[in-house]
Amino acid sequence: MFAWWRRRRRERLLRAYRLPASHLAATIASLPCCRGLDTAEQERLRDLVSLFLAEKAFEPVEGFVCTEADRLAIAVQACLPILELGFDWYDEWVSVVVYPNEFLVDYEEMDEAGVVHAGRDLRIGEAWDYGPLVLSLEDVHASTRQNHHEDGYNVVMHECAHKLDMCNGDANGFPPLHRGMSRRAWTRAFSEAFADMNRRLDAGQETPLDSYAAESPAECFAVFSEYFFVAPQVLNDVYPAVYTQLRQFYRQDPGRR
Ligand SMILES: [Zn+2]
Repeated sequence: MFAWWRRRRRERLLRAYRLPASHLAATIASLPCCRGLDTAEQERLRDLVSLFLAEKAFEPVEGFVCTEADRLAIAVQACLPILELGFDWYDEWVSVVVYPNEFLVDYEEMDEAGVVHAGRDLRIGEAWDYGPLVLSLEDVHASTRQNHHEDGYNVVMHECAHKLDMCNGDANGFPPLHRGMSRRAWTRAFSEAFADMNRRLDAGQETPLDSYAAESPAECFAVFSEYFFVAPQVLNDVYPAVYTQLRQFYRQDPGRR
């Protein structure tokens, strides 16, 4: 019943607030990750971005102004991962908090031995469980530049991957898989890649992808999701089994666009 009501409400929202295609064209053209989207995909993206702007509340931190172009850039990058999943995957949160650049966060974390570590850390993005998406706008814009694109760097997609991961509980690198996907194949692909990254780090070697993926299974999923959308060939060359799993999960094949 609730899903039916939500669908009807979104249909009404789209009738009233669907963005004109011309409004979105410049943003799509400026983002390397959107290259190669066909007309039907661009139309679906337009629906999702329209819903994102209608339903999510942008909350720039005090004294900072987030322009319409900034909101569009964030919305397009947030909606590309759910292009074939649907807007329901972002139902559990509303706010997008925007800082002008890196921000300081007080943290408390428990390590594997159960010891709690507290401190302050500089962050460029965060995804809170049932809470806001938090982004540094400077890094949102840096994500769209070609040189960062080739590094597989995209802060919006990274934090949105955490949000998708949280759809079935804590972020743990295991989002809800679709019917027909194999939990065993997912676990094997990610575990082997995660172990390989950590083995190289322990041996003092360079890692083939951003070493932040070796932090935890949750970061592994988020970092590899960034590569999947912005540098798909790089991910496919290094960890083809992970690419296959992400292609099945996101129901997209960015490497063929
Ligand atoms: Zn992360």
